[in-house]
Amino acid sequence: MKKYPTIIDNIYAEIKDIKDEGKVANYIPELGCISDENFGISITTIEKQNYGVGDFEKKFSIQSISKILSLTLAYQLEGENLWQRVDVEPSGNPFNSLQQLESDKGIPRNPFINAGAIVVCDVLIGHLKNPKEDFLDFCREIANNYDINYNEKVAESEKRTGFRNVALCNFIKSFGNIKNNVDDVLDFYFHICSLELTCKELTEIFMYLTEDNYTTHKGNSIITESQTKRINAIMLTCGFYDESGEFSFRVGLPGKSGVGGGIVAIHPDKYCIAVWSPKLNEKGNSFKGMLFLENFTTKTASSIF
Ligand code: GLN
Repeated sequence: MKKYPTIIDNIYAEIKDIKDEGKVANYIPELGCISDENFGISITTIEKQNYGVGDFEKKFSIQSISKILSLTLAYQLEGENLWQRVDVEPSGNPFNSLQQLESDKGIPRNPFINAGAIVVCDVLIGHLKNPKEDFLDFCREIANNYDINYNEKVAESEKRTGFRNVALCNFIKSFGNIKNNVDDVLDFYFHICSLELTCKELTEIFMYLTEDNYTTHKGNSIITESQTKRINAIMLTCGFYDESGEFSFRVGLPGKSGVGGGIVAIHPDKYCIAVWSPKLNEKGNSFKGMLFLENFTTKTASSIF
């Protein structure tokens, strides 16, 4: 941990006041109300030491970062059969694209684009008695944090305006790859996206991706070593949609972004780091988040490459 705080403080100070660096997402109206001034960073090391700066203890909508959690639970429950419903290839397309589904016959390219995450929600509904409650319980247990909740206002806001997701879900159902009622699947999907965490909480909840054989405070294991390796691999290749290559190139860590402006990145065996800055670049990824992490892995020489 020793060297991280000074390096984090220095990069934070360097990039904090950069202006003109993108736009806050407003296609989900409720997200448009968030101040673009927010900027926070948090790191938790495998020795369980934490350091944060700026707005690292403010809750925000983690949006697509939650797709790691839904994938983890679906993988735990469904095992390798999951890959018959969703593939593991980078899409090279925007997160909400419908394009490849036609030729791919309703099998989404990967679980981190919206199409794939919607199929994962359908898989979860097939396993869980009370999907929304059970998913929340799962998140709370792995984070050992019972203050994790959905933001109903954000979920409601996306439900009113999420026309592309409605189209995606119906289109996939036409190929037979959605088994449950479309409204139920979408309601679950919008809720999962509305999950709120702070940067600090994000680094704590994803510690299971940094360590082999991680167990929760209740002594339950989450996924196997090989499943952990695979989720990190999908994050590396697909975590930033059509900017996944760019993130690997500049940062060099498995990671995942959300349109709320958060990014979480994992160094297996070393740390989990989270950054929040709501202004997004044109690919829907936090501008300052990417810039911060690029500087961080360069200055700490801690990319996986
Ligand atoms: N809820 C958002 C959507 O479906 C998630 C997208 C994202 O964070 N990239 O559009």
